[in-house]
Amino acid sequence: MTFRAPTAEQRFVLDHVAGIVELAGAERFAHADSDTVDAVLDGIAQFAAGEYAPTNRIGDTVMPRWEDGRVTMPPGFRQAYSGCVEGGWNGVDAPMEHGGMGLPYALASAVLEALGTANMGLTLINLLTAGAVHALEAYGTEEQKSVWLPRLVSGEWNGTMNLTEPGAGSDVGALRTTAEPVADGDHAGLWKLRGQKIFITFGEHDLTDNIVHLVLARTPDAPAGTKGISLFLVPKFRLDAQGLPTIPNGVRCLSIEHKLGIHASPTCVMAFGEGDDSLGELIGEVGGGMRAMFVMMNSARLNVGNQSHVRAFS
Ligand SMILES: Cc1cc2nc3c(=O)[nH]c(=O)nc-3n(C[C@H](O)[C@H](O)[C@H](O)COP(=O)(O)OP(=O)(O)OC[C@H]3O[C@@H](n4cnc5c(N)ncnc54)[C@H](O)[C@@H]3O)c2cc1C
Repeated sequence: MTFRAPTAEQRFVLDHVAGIVELAGAERFAHADSDTVDAVLDGIAQFAAGEYAPTNRIGDTVMPRWEDGRVTMPPGFRQAYSGCVEGGWNGVDAPMEHGGMGLPYALASAVLEALGTANMGLTLINLLTAGAVHALEAYGTEEQKSVWLPRLVSGEWNGTMNLTEPGAGSDVGALRTTAEPVADGDHAGLWKLRGQKIFITFGEHDLTDNIVHLVLARTPDAPAGTKGISLFLVPKFRLDAQGLPTIPNGVRCLSIEHKLGIHASPTCVMAFGEGDDSLGELIGEVGGGMRAMFVMMNSARLNVGNQSHVRAFS
């Protein structure tokens, strides 16, 4: 089957439902004029058809492969994803000061829809990273934003969402991963994370140089349930003095799931701090983890809902 992004339908919805013209009337979105909207929709339609769609079938049949903690993605995925990064498609609604295009969220949703209808399994990396960007924008300090956002916005690094644990799915308040503050030495101010997370989408893969995990964990003496949960940023590799991701951070992928659908998306069991230390930064306040993580979860929910179009258009 050939792939065609639903460009005309998207333009109709943006004009008549989302009110993209009115949005462009606001100072913040003044550059989202009609020509720019068309250029984004036409550009992503071409990119999705040319780069993401041809990898869809191979992702379904070859699937990601786990070996000794590393996950190799199916052939063609690295090239398709690199094209997405080079084209700037990851940062359509992200702030311009961090390298994004600063366009309305509605337009970014159309971009994710085009990519998702071309290859849903691969697009989950873009979808989760968008959520991580929103959570850091809302709850990161200025320093955390300046260190982590530029490469998440570009897609050079991807973001993951780490809530679920064995025995803590719908009942997320039952989670047992811990975070202990580091009191002194070179890493004072950071936290040592320890625990296991399951079903982590794109928790490990070979498409990016680093993976930025947003992880829910319990601090010492935290109250039971969701009130005792805090949010931490735990990278696969910590950054060296040059800001490069070269220092392994004790994060290990123990296995990936064999699923009935979205074969191309690596759904990972992740271990933090088993063996070497996994050091993380607190995002937001101690005990404020659910509030901060809900920004990422809501972004993921909206864009997963958006994927209900996949069967209609592919
Ligand atoms: C493909 C895939 C990708 C995922 N990616 C991520 C990810 O990136 N990050 C992440 O953190 N998690 C991820 N998840 C996990 C997902 O968030 C959990 O599967 C979800 O929270 C449900 O938890 P559970 O699977 O343990 O099911 P359970 O919580 O055990 O629920 C099983 C069933 O019991 C029902 N149930 C549960 N509690 C109650 C109750 N109190 N009353 C009545 N019925 C109830 C549920 O509705 C469900 O039907 C992913 C899951 C899948 C399948």
